[in-house]
Amino acid sequence: MGSQSRSFQRRVVDAARAQGLLGDLFWYVEIEIGYGRHAPACWPGVWVPVMPVGDDWEASSHVADVLAQIFAWHNAGRGLVFRAALTNEEALRESGATWYVWGEDGPPIDRVCGGCGAVTVVAAGGWAVCECGEMVR
Ligand SMILES: [Zn+2]
Repeated sequence: MGSQSRSFQRRVVDAARAQGLLGDLFWYVEIEIGYGRHAPACWPGVWVPVMPVGDDWEASSHVADVLAQIFAWHNAGRGLVFRAALTNEEALRESGATWYVWGEDGPPIDRVCGGCGAVTVVAAGGWAVCECGEMVR
């Protein structure tokens, strides 16, 4: 079981909706790291992908589950468990985490050009053209 039960998540969503704060809620993927402890799943580097809960939390939770499965697939064999969990903008800010909305322009990351070795900043998941003309992704 993750740190958040489904009924807990439902209560959080209901409370946020009642307060008009549904727009502040986000899904992220948590990793069970043992002994009841959890950490946010990051990619790339220290960046935490999040996704807005939106008006239909059950629908967005399925998309968050897909993201959790992507993390699980990329970490197969490591004995880690990934699950979608809720957070809000305030908690994200207070955690000091670097985060971005999954599916939108990813965070800037340094990539080394295979042609000339120059370092180019590329949005995660995107690509750029190096000054030497090589495509960098
Ligand atoms: Zn280059």
